[in-house]
Amino acid sequence: MRDNLELEADLAINGGTPVRETFLPYGRQSIDEDDIKAVEEVLRSNWLTTGPEIEKFEEAVCQFTGARYAVAIANGTAALHAAYHAAGIESGDEIITTGMTFAATANAALYLGAKPVFVDIDPSTGCLDPDKVVEKISDRTKAIVAVDYYGHPCEADPLNEIAAKANIRLIIDAAHSLGAEYNGKKVGTLASMTTFSFHPVKAITTGEGGMIVTDDADLYQRLCTFRTHGIVKSASSFEKPNEGPWYHEMQMLGFNYRITDFQAALGKQQLLKLPAFIHRRGEIAERYRRGLSELQHFKPLEEKENCRSAYHLFPIIVAKKPRAKYRRLAFEALHRENIGVQVHYIPVYQHPFYQKLLASEVIHCPQTDRFYDGEISLPIFPAMTDGDVDDVLKALRKIEDRILG
Ligand SMILES: *Cc1c(COP(=O)(O)O)cnc(C)c1O
Repeated sequence: MRDNLELEADLAINGGTPVRETFLPYGRQSIDEDDIKAVEEVLRSNWLTTGPEIEKFEEAVCQFTGARYAVAIANGTAALHAAYHAAGIESGDEIITTGMTFAATANAALYLGAKPVFVDIDPSTGCLDPDKVVEKISDRTKAIVAVDYYGHPCEADPLNEIAAKANIRLIIDAAHSLGAEYNGKKVGTLASMTTFSFHPVKAITTGEGGMIVTDDADLYQRLCTFRTHGIVKSASSFEKPNEGPWYHEMQMLGFNYRITDFQAALGKQQLLKLPAFIHRRGEIAERYRRGLSELQHFKPLEEKENCRSAYHLFPIIVAKKPRAKYRRLAFEALHRENIGVQVHYIPVYQHPFYQKLLASEVIHCPQTDRFYDGEISLPIFPAMTDGDVDDVLKALRKIEDRILG
């Protein structure tokens, strides 16, 4: 018979005691009484959908990011769809993007009949590698869509240079990076359009929700029109004569992508806490980094000197080869220790749908493939305690000793 101490040190997957009794999720929203009150007030008002809270929320995001215009929308995927449409992307066009993202980044191009062209990443941050982008620009390329993976800003300066030279747009999918900074500038001011998501695991939440920010008045108009069926209500923009006070025109094919007023009220209230949320995420990341520096086989990503990540995720790479094998063992062992890790992402082009769609293409993204093979996202959210972080580190240490050692 082994004694208790030894049992405790054993991995839960081998019959030992888990490092914690309750399951720690990888992400979680933070909702307080002020948030609930803000939603309740709107529910008691005359407006449920498009009302005064939408503009206030948009204005608050402009204030926060420094962008001139903001368009609140149904979700982050709709934000991408609207941005691509506003950029003039249509059937037969191409966008250049990364496979290391959620499928929505590429799917939204397909909604418009355009084709995503996948380019490799810089494995130190998981973001698009600008040098690889240049090689893939063609006559059909309409936009570069960079993703701020894990909350770390993409290489906006070189990407803007490439986009300007090719006379195409840079769009940033900033679903992970609201509040992040690049050369002292907030994400939201670094591209022609920047899209956000307010899904519950993201930096702030509206349940479902999203936003596009831009400094361009024409893009702003197109985004607004697209959000509501392609219908225009302002007389100065009519194509035909104004027939009276009821008159409006449908000028393009749009969607019902509106967000509700009570969601906007929640978003505005959440935004007040965003600096505190980001600060706490940064503290958690710092604690992870300190703990991981004592381990051999789990490597955090870089935070570049000119950048501040918003730490939507805290990805680590299982460095021991073969990566895919040890990542799987570590992932399963972590779950048994009650640590709710995830994997971000299965490269978009590896999904069966995309494999069939792009069957005739050569997709050469070896860094993305390698990154996926080793990636595990550790739990990170504002309400996590230092004790929670230490549980994760303790579980990683156990796994390193017993499986990777
Ligand atoms: C969450 C996310 C989206 C989609 O946002 P939804 O609000 O869920 O539609 C798009 N891109 C990335 C990178 C995301 O993480």
